[in-house]
Order: sequence, then C-alpha cells, then structure tokens
Amino acid sequence: MELEAATTGENERVYIDRGHAERGAEGRFYVVFSDDSRQDRWGFYCDNCGSLDTAVDTMGRIECNDCGNLRKADEWDAAHE
Ligand SMILES: [Zn+2]
Repeated sequence: MELEAATTGENERVYIDRGHAERGAEGRFYVVFSDDSRQDRWGFYCDNCGSLDTAVDTMGRIECNDCGNLRKADEWDAAHE
C-alpha cells in the first residue's frame, strides 16, 4: 500500500513501510521489510537523514548510525536517566 522500494548498502532490496512509523528524537523511523508482503521485518529507515543504517537493541531502542536519531525504548526507562 505505502511500501517504498529501496536498496541497502549491501545491495539488498528492501521495502519501507511509510504507513508504520516510530517517533524518534530527530525524526521518524519507518519500519522496513525485506519483502513486499510485509512478512519479514528487516529493520528501520531513518526519515531524518534517509539512512537504512540503524541499530535496534534488545530493549527496543532504535538508533540511527548516521545522524544519531534515537527512539527510546520505554517511557519508564527514560525517567531513570
Ligand atoms: Zn539518521
């Protein structure tokens, strides 16, 4: 529906789901799938700088390796900082 085809740094074809975003500190992160039927979740696309180079940790935190855009895992986690 709102999938946008993109190519990663490893020449992998991936699909950015423009209808599914997570709010980050600097901009949105869109969910990226490795197939166009949304079966395989590949990672995230940083809308702030246009990078697919993002890291997700086990707590669900998303960070862009290019611009530092960050989505904190949980509200309660942020309150402890
Ligand atoms: Zn970024």
